[in-house]
Amino acid sequence: MKNQNYVPFIYGFIVCATLCAIVLSFGAGMAETSASTSAVEARVNRAQPPTEWSRTKAFPNHEVYYPGTEDLAPDEMRVTALGTGMPMPRLKQAAASFLVELGNGDKFIFDMGEGSYERLMSLGIPLDHLDKVFLGHLHLDHAGDFPAFYFTGPVNNRLTPVRLWGPSGVKPEWGTKSWWKHQRLSWAWEEASRGSALDPRGLQIEVNEFDWTAVNEVIYDENGVQIRTIPAIHADQSVSFLLEWNGLKFAFSSDTLPNTWWREHATDADIAIHEAFIPPDLMMEKFQFAPSEAIFVGTQGHTYAAAFGKIMSITKPRLAVAYHFQNDFDTASAVESEIRKTYDGPLDLATDFMVWNITKDEIRTRMAIPNEESFPAPVQRKKNPPDSLAAYQWTEFSLSGVEPDSAAVTNAMIIEFNKRHGTDIKPSITGIPFRDK
Ligand SMILES: [Zn+2]
Ligand SMILES: [Zn+2]
Repeated sequence: MKNQNYVPFIYGFIVCATLCAIVLSFGAGMAETSASTSAVEARVNRAQPPTEWSRTKAFPNHEVYYPGTEDLAPDEMRVTALGTGMPMPRLKQAAASFLVELGNGDKFIFDMGEGSYERLMSLGIPLDHLDKVFLGHLHLDHAGDFPAFYFTGPVNNRLTPVRLWGPSGVKPEWGTKSWWKHQRLSWAWEEASRGSALDPRGLQIEVNEFDWTAVNEVIYDENGVQIRTIPAIHADQSVSFLLEWNGLKFAFSSDTLPNTWWREHATDADIAIHEAFIPPDLMMEKFQFAPSEAIFVGTQGHTYAAAFGKIMSITKPRLAVAYHFQNDFDTASAVESEIRKTYDGPLDLATDFMVWNITKDEIRTRMAIPNEESFPAPVQRKKNPPDSLAAYQWTEFSLSGVEPDSAAVTNAMIIEFNKRHGTDIKPSITGIPFRDK
């Protein structure tokens, strides 16, 4: 079954599906009446609603995805949209990021635009399981949250080094290695101060820079998973990714114009996530762009929606997913009507927390219900205690300003805390002004 939900109807569909589930449980024959009804039937069958509704027993709502509540089958791929928007920050849509989870336990992050990290954290996945990040290019709306993801690892229970893949540059100083070297230099105090206050083992990184002009070359080959890159046309040194595993193919454009490399190598993807912009006239209205800006940004630096449709008609994915536009009631219909000029296949217009479950038999689209009040996922192995004073020496100037009466309150609490927990933790900062007394 190929899913063709139209985004603005998704919420309505969720409500409708619940009602339909009740209706269908009373009349099996109804399911044959139309294509849309049989799609509902397939969903209802999977959810296996009880014949009698208990007032006390759980019946999970399978029309939405509650992260952390469903097993991933050994042959299944799950893709979650963590960011589908633009460089213009907005609550509804973070900038580009997609999480790919495989039935073999591997997880991959593709792009980490601004705002995507909080979406990732709302899924409740331990950061130790999220150690592989692939950046298609180094624009802020595709890479801006990576430093936050990396440097706050220790406060989020990460004890595993991060592995980063990104493209080389037209100039060496524009490539991923140089980018990361300078990111790290600019965050030197962050790294020294935070890394010393917590178990710092997660603050290690492996940077893999690959040739951005390489065509369909393997950059990752482990555990039955192959990831290849093809060049993208987006101010140079940009790439698109192709992930293949277990006979399933995931294609992600990052940013690009439709190009011959995509046409040749992204064919027959099970899920093809490709950028598509809102039409230039609407960009002028929504962004107050000048006509020349709207044409350049919307069709030369990025993919015009009907051109997205054309490349999907040519490459024929099982499911085409358009992203990288503000997906609202008015923009969605404008983008879809452009796409439908050139493409009549299965299509989703992505928004944040859209989730795709992909097997050889079926592609299923749902919306995830994220945990807005998330805390870091539990540690995956024993933490080492940090030795903050040994690693990071506070200046005498700061220590001289510790207010003694409130420090005494803190110290008294720590004495009680040590009794309760059987520990012998010294108040390394609030204790210092009194050390010699
Ligand atoms: Zn870009
Ligand atoms: Zn972009």
